[in-house]
Amino acid sequence: MEILKTEESSLYRQPMSEPEWQEVTETLRTRFAQIDQEPFQSSAAQIREALQWLDPVMTKYCELTCPQCKDPCCNAHAIFFNQTDMLSLMAMEISLPPGQTRVRPGEPCRYLTPKGCRLQRVARPYVCVWFLCETQMDLFWEESALTQRHFVKQFENIRLNRLRLEALYENLS
Ligand code: SF4
Ligand code: SF4
Repeated sequence: MEILKTEESSLYRQPMSEPEWQEVTETLRTRFAQIDQEPFQSSAAQIREALQWLDPVMTKYCELTCPQCKDPCCNAHAIFFNQTDMLSLMAMEISLPPGQTRVRPGEPCRYLTPKGCRLQRVARPYVCVWFLCETQMDLFWEESALTQRHFVKQFENIRLNRLRLEALYENLS
């Protein structure tokens, strides 16, 4: 796989008003629709497949740890969608969320509910997907070596394919 980037852009990782979000997402949608979709498809499929493998494992971890948590990670204020999140969603043909996680700095995440995140895992900012807190890392270390290897492989696969998607987009648009 050709990778032209080593790090995702931090573009759009910031609080945004509704009109700002609409403008950004509309611009991305328009540009994305104008370029050849075919090169994006294999990366989108691999990201989706890796997330499908991770989802039940992460859901189990969350069920075991989050209800007792005294310092929930979703209360952090520096979590935002970035450009790669949005490109991945468009490549997977998943609707973009209705807004950035917050309009103003310091506000709670708009997707946080008393029962957890209202977004499906596949539609969350990727930082919310890969984050394993210390308590969850303890569960990870209890997994078999085979499962641990597979787990790490899924994250690496997603990381590389997200970089590829953003590089493709930047080269083609
Ligand atoms: S993932 Fe960890 S830090 Fe976040 S809410 Fe669950 S237990 Fe708490
Ligand atoms: S998007 Fe969901 S998982 Fe991420 S911080 Fe907000 S509520 Fe938590």
